[in-house]
Amino acid sequence: MRQNHIKELDPFLRSLLYIIGGEIAIYVGRELLNSESEDITDEDITENIKGKIEGKDIDFEPDDLETLKLNTVRKTLYKLYSEKLAQFRRIRDKSTGWFIYYWWHEFDLLEEILLEKKKLIESKLRDRLQFEESNYFFICKNCQDSNIKYNFDEAFELNFRCSDCGSPLEAQENKPIIEFLKNKIVLIQKTKITLN
Ligand SMILES: [Zn+2]
Repeated sequence: MRQNHIKELDPFLRSLLYIIGGEIAIYVGRELLNSESEDITDEDITENIKGKIEGKDIDFEPDDLETLKLNTVRKTLYKLYSEKLAQFRRIRDKSTGWFIYYWWHEFDLLEEILLEKKKLIESKLRDRLQFEESNYFFICKNCQDSNIKYNFDEAFELNFRCSDCGSPLEAQENKPIIEFLKNKIVLIQKTKITLN
């Protein structure tokens, strides 16, 4: 059975788990956190959670008489696995021939994962900034809803006339977009990722 001291998930991690797999992911995450000393099987996780929600008004299987299915826990574990927050090893049970899956969390990697995401966002913003800075667009003020932008070559081809209505094309001021992107980049650089 469980030890008396129950570890709680960091609030940030809790939110992240919820985003990844809903309420059940928080329960699964909590089981993984509290079985750090020995890896836990998906069956055990399911049984533990069922024990914890017993008598409470919690039902993870609303279409069913059961409150929680092993399959739901497995799906959740795989979601955590694909987000690099959990790992498993499998061992074949010699008597049944079935695989037993032992799971553990990789929450320590969270900071690294988030830093990677941050870098990715920053590089996307930089690409976009570079694109805006090196491209100068022409638009038709008559057809602004259509959102069509022409680069210099395209506008030149069209004799600086809109291909839809024939109005003259005007150079679009993209300084506001450039400013916006620059601010976003500064903001994301300033964002510190720290977990307690
Ligand atoms: Zn037009």
